[in-house]
Amino acid sequence: MPTKKMHKKYQRPKYIFVVGGVMSSVGKGVTTASAGALLKDFGVSVTAMKIDPYINVDAGTMNPTEHGEVFVTYDGYETDQDLGNYERFLDEQIPSVNYMTTGLVYQTVIERERNLGYHGKCVEVVPHIPLEVIRRIEFAQARIRSAVTIIEVGGTVGEYQNILFLEAARMMKLKYPRDVVFIMVSYLPIPRTVGEMKTKPTQHAVRTLNAAGIHADFIVCRSEKELDAKRKEKLALLCNLQNEGDTISAPDVPSVYQIPLLLAQEGFGEKLLKRLSLKKRHKGDLRQWRTLYRILSSVTKPVKIAVVGKYFGTGKFTLADSYISVIEALKHACWFHKRKPDLTWIDSEEYERNPRKVRELASFDGILVPGGFGTRGVAGLLRAIRFAREHKIPYFGLCYGMQLACIEIARNVLGWKDAHTTEIDSKTSHPIIHLNPFQAQNVRSRRFGGTMRLGSYDCQLLKGTKAWIAYRRQQISERHRHRYEFNNAYRESFEKVGLIFSGMNPETGLVEIAELAVHPWFLGTQFHPEFQSRPFRPHPLFREFINAAIQKR
Ligand code: GLN
Repeated sequence: MPTKKMHKKYQRPKYIFVVGGVMSSVGKGVTTASAGALLKDFGVSVTAMKIDPYINVDAGTMNPTEHGEVFVTYDGYETDQDLGNYERFLDEQIPSVNYMTTGLVYQTVIERERNLGYHGKCVEVVPHIPLEVIRRIEFAQARIRSAVTIIEVGGTVGEYQNILFLEAARMMKLKYPRDVVFIMVSYLPIPRTVGEMKTKPTQHAVRTLNAAGIHADFIVCRSEKELDAKRKEKLALLCNLQNEGDTISAPDVPSVYQIPLLLAQEGFGEKLLKRLSLKKRHKGDLRQWRTLYRILSSVTKPVKIAVVGKYFGTGKFTLADSYISVIEALKHACWFHKRKPDLTWIDSEEYERNPRKVRELASFDGILVPGGFGTRGVAGLLRAIRFAREHKIPYFGLCYGMQLACIEIARNVLGWKDAHTTEIDSKTSHPIIHLNPFQAQNVRSRRFGGTMRLGSYDCQLLKGTKAWIAYRRQQISERHRHRYEFNNAYRESFEKVGLIFSGMNPETGLVEIAELAVHPWFLGTQFHPEFQSRPFRPHPLFREFINAAIQKR
């Protein structure tokens, strides 16, 4: 018999599904993350999950220009960039079980069928696929034991691709009628010729959702402007909402970090709690968010950073989605120093077409080369790195940016003209960056999906180095996503010319961080520090890189 005390302690898990209406790219991920941040601020434990409708089993094989950045979880899964938003907004590590795709769900069901897991039954798309989706959601909840699990369903309602996920959501509502809430994030256009906000597309989207057997409890109304009282009332009436307060106005704002504050103004956190019959444990004043917003909206002194890479065209903020975690990490660090991030995207191929153009880099306070793959743009990246090294401009290389920095030093300092990574030149006489035997096996057998060195690995820091100064710790753990490594046969030669290997993996002896002894700040990491940067806790290396950039200025 459950005692009264036990009864009190037991809290049924709650689920919030977030679906998109009308069109994509209206900030469903940030809305999911912000709703979570509001609940967390009230002291409620939250986790967030993403369901992607692709056949791809994970996001790892997709080109970033196709799908934006590939985010890497600490436990080594390659996911959609929205998991990065959840981590940044919730300040939590999101595990790989919080991500699924159509491909992954089907793969599990098919494997189970092959192993007689369905005991001779006919395995059908419905109900077996939605049931597997539900199993995964419940598993993820049980792992973290979060009071609230927010599930973002990728795509837009009415799409053929996400029907089975909506079916899973409908079944969950049937299973837990009082513990499942639906949010639709919709878009309300303001056609230029009409000049006023139109609610009709949202009404249609709600009807489409209804046809899937789902009733929206809240509609988050994304638009250029705020939703007025008249439209709130109209939408509530026509979309079957309990009252007009269930339409949440979410106008465009300059920074995504403003969105929790914006939603709080609408009382969204409290409304969600009430609908889920949950009590707040804290007052919920969003103090950290307010401080962050005060800083980011008032800083004026710029730090000029050039991000030299590929996967984007020329100009400012083109395809910024490919590097969203890098951009956010740069912003967090700039705000920490009370500076305004002034980021310029440079396509490294420009420096191949016009080598003299590299001189423009002199006008920047810092140069960053992010991760990448393959040959295209590499010659231009090497030019940019050489310029940073010779002109003493703070340089930060992330993964490929570290590997290429070593190649640049090998060629121009050590004089090994054909030094290269075997990713590009398998016949080089100086394979500075190469494949380890385990990875070579993967490449030979063409096993590419999910086989890189992925997720968190430990790194031991060398005292007194720039890396150590940043972390002030002996041992750190950072996330990886790469196949190639620094070739330790060349370590000594590099050390002789002043490259310090300031971070090493304690088990394998692999190089994790390399930095120049004589340079204001020239450091590369084999890992991707950007994945662990948070708005209230900038990453130590980004913080020190920006500090060096400010000094240069
Ligand atoms: N292409 C390099 C490798 O596979 C670097 C990868 C990266 O920058 N993430 O090792």
